[in-house]
Amino acid sequence: MLNNRMTFESLCLRNEPLANHSSYQIGGEANFFAMPETVEELLTLLRGCKTHGLNYFICGMGSNLLFPDRPQEDTLYISLKKFVYWDIQPSKWFISSGTPMSMLAISGRMFGIPGYEFTYLLPGGLGAGIYMNAKYNQHQISDIVKTVYYVDLSDPSLAVQSIDVSQCRYGYKQSIFQMNPWLVLGADMLAVPDEKQIAAGNELLARWKGKEGMSTLASFYSYMSAEAEALKKQGLLIPSEMTDIADYRNGKRHFEYPSCGSVFKNNYDFGVPVGALVDRLNLKGKEHGGAMISPYHGNMIINHRHATAEDVKYLMNVIIEGIDNAFGFQPEPEVVVVK
Ligand SMILES: Cc1cc2nc3c(=O)[nH]c(=O)nc-3n(C[C@H](O)[C@H](O)[C@H](O)COP(=O)(O)OP(=O)(O)OC[C@H]3O[C@@H](n4cnc5c(N)ncnc54)[C@H](O)[C@@H]3O)c2cc1C
Repeated sequence: MLNNRMTFESLCLRNEPLANHSSYQIGGEANFFAMPETVEELLTLLRGCKTHGLNYFICGMGSNLLFPDRPQEDTLYISLKKFVYWDIQPSKWFISSGTPMSMLAISGRMFGIPGYEFTYLLPGGLGAGIYMNAKYNQHQISDIVKTVYYVDLSDPSLAVQSIDVSQCRYGYKQSIFQMNPWLVLGADMLAVPDEKQIAAGNELLARWKGKEGMSTLASFYSYMSAEAEALKKQGLLIPSEMTDIADYRNGKRHFEYPSCGSVFKNNYDFGVPVGALVDRLNLKGKEHGGAMISPYHGNMIINHRHATAEDVKYLMNVIIEGIDNAFGFQPEPEVVVVK
């Protein structure tokens, strides 16, 4: 008998508010929305789009995108936030795209694997982290993965392929995945936990999977800090790198208001971060509709009072024009503005 979740129709939610699936809490009702949990469900959805003549848009936890106020009627919005799966073996650790990056910091402490601390409280799933080359200070996702598994969406067979991290053309917030229609399924990590830790790792993941659909920044923060506290209770040391991250992000009010984090990429040729330039232009605190340029971080636009996507885009243009007029370049958006 066919599994109930294995038909295109049973996997699609109708009239689903995209605002519920974005850390911005912005986005109108999608005609079609789905959260596949397995590769088979994902492939059913992709093939179904072809049969039904629908476009699709792939996202993760929605922490680096701005959904439209009026989503496209003929588009299936596919969120991978429930595509959460680990395969831990003695010589291999595969992590699927929907796994929150911050879980790497927690499991790194649990397994005694150094180098994952920078992902602590970094919103988003591993798939998008691989796609965006998510980073914190000098550390980035490309430092810790070994082999990436993906589906080339232009290949009619939708066969699973793999690529070594050295071939992924990684740079500052850049990767080969942004240059091709490739959907990241997950990755093998460079470091592998001890066999004795496998059960504890699977328990950690099962706890997260129990938190269905959690997507506000406040709930993300309280979940991850509770997991860090639990490690302390087990006698494990939380390194200063992780506590410094919590202090920094709390200081910038990252989890207090809905946002997508930094709106623009920094221009390293210019040499001054976008946030500092916005500060020099006295734009912090500027409001439009329900959106506001964060008073705490010039490169963040927060949704402080039922903002629309248009409100955020208006303030993005204010920043682009202000920086262009005063400093002679247009900052490149980091946030993905979804059509
Ligand atoms: C408060 C806050 C602080 C932040 N701080 C940082 C920071 O310090 N450093 C940093 O790098 N980022 C930061 N971000 C941005 C965000 O955390 C990262 O960009 C993260 O990688 C986004 O993950 P996501 O799963 O939410 O992706 P989404 O926002 O859902 O998607 C982002 C993009 O990735 C694509 N995508 C998603 N999944 C896949 C996949 N499996 N295969 C192919 N493409 C995919 C989408 O199409 C979209 O273009 C911050 C965001 C917030 C809200």
